[in-house]
Amino acid sequence: MYKALVVDKPAEGYRCALAELDESQLPEGDVTVRVEWSTINFKDGLAITGKSPVVRKFPLTPGIDFAGTVEASTHAEFNAGDRVVLNGWGVGEGHSGGLAQKARVKGEWLIPLPAAFTTRQAMAIGTAGYTAMLCIQALERHGVAPEQGEVLVTGASGGVGSVAIALLAKRGFRVVASTGKLAESDYLMRLGASEVIDRATLSAPGKPLARERWAGVVDSVGSHTLANACAAAKYGGAVAACGLAGGMDFPASVAPFILRGVTLYGIDSVMAPKAKRLAAWNALAADLDPIKLDAMTHEISLADALAAGADILAGKVRGRLVVDVNR
Ligand code: NDP
Repeated sequence: MYKALVVDKPAEGYRCALAELDESQLPEGDVTVRVEWSTINFKDGLAITGKSPVVRKFPLTPGIDFAGTVEASTHAEFNAGDRVVLNGWGVGEGHSGGLAQKARVKGEWLIPLPAAFTTRQAMAIGTAGYTAMLCIQALERHGVAPEQGEVLVTGASGGVGSVAIALLAKRGFRVVASTGKLAESDYLMRLGASEVIDRATLSAPGKPLARERWAGVVDSVGSHTLANACAAAKYGGAVAACGLAGGMDFPASVAPFILRGVTLYGIDSVMAPKAKRLAAWNALAADLDPIKLDAMTHEISLADALAAGADILAGKVRGRLVVDVNR
């Protein structure tokens, strides 16, 4: 038997609860993992609350991330005792996921735990942190460099935003953090922001073009915020869009793209190929300051994860939540 969160959709409505499951209820897969840590990302909040239809199969254990130790494997690359990390691939959406003491997945979805990290640190990073690195790598491939000017990070106090700030600062960028939580300005400056701005300056409808300011942007908010970020990107600059915390729409004009040669990169972590994942995790191992990671991490139990799902959607969570699935 193992403990797990289970989402179900009986006639009376959507619900998520803590349950005791039998191993026979694990899904198909060639690697069984004893999960040590999981995490709450924005998408896990959607799965736990049912606010958006991210769960496509019922009953299902949510949790798009986990880290733990292989218990049994028939996959050529993994053996019992190996420490592994899983991010995405539809786990926690169409295949039972990491908010449980056990998980069973396809070995091809797993990566070895980077030697630099404990399983807890890997989950403090989680999909949010690995996506922050995918965004930064897209900007760097474009050629965005510190001498070209400031980088804007939106949704700054959230998971993607917090990790992005720490990584960009480490790489020498002047980082401007946009937040709805100005009371968290000290936190954002400690992570490495040079300036904190009120997200209200970006969230209202704006002009097709604004004063050129950003050499690069990491946006996890979408909607008017993304449109305004593009409108104020410098000539030849780049914007990495990964999120929709402020809305899924994109009420923009083509002006920044056709008059300033701005490039908009779409960032997806879920189906990213293995080589891209490994490159992102290797860069995280090299560049993410463990002290800053610790400063942005708050630990909760598996039972606490139920309420944390609603909290993250309400914008109440600062940084990253790690879930001790054995507590
Ligand atoms: P968090 O909830 O941790 O962070 C989101 C942040 O956005 C909040 O902390 C808040 O920051 C800001 N925010 C929240 N609501 C609003 C709003 N209504 N308007 C403007 N800003 C808002 O989530 P994550 O960091 O885990 O994820 C961020 C986004 O990125 C989500 O939409 C998520 O789905 C997406 N994502 C996409 C991935 C991909 O593969 N493309 C992977 C990972 C995440 P503040 O208070 O500082 O403004």
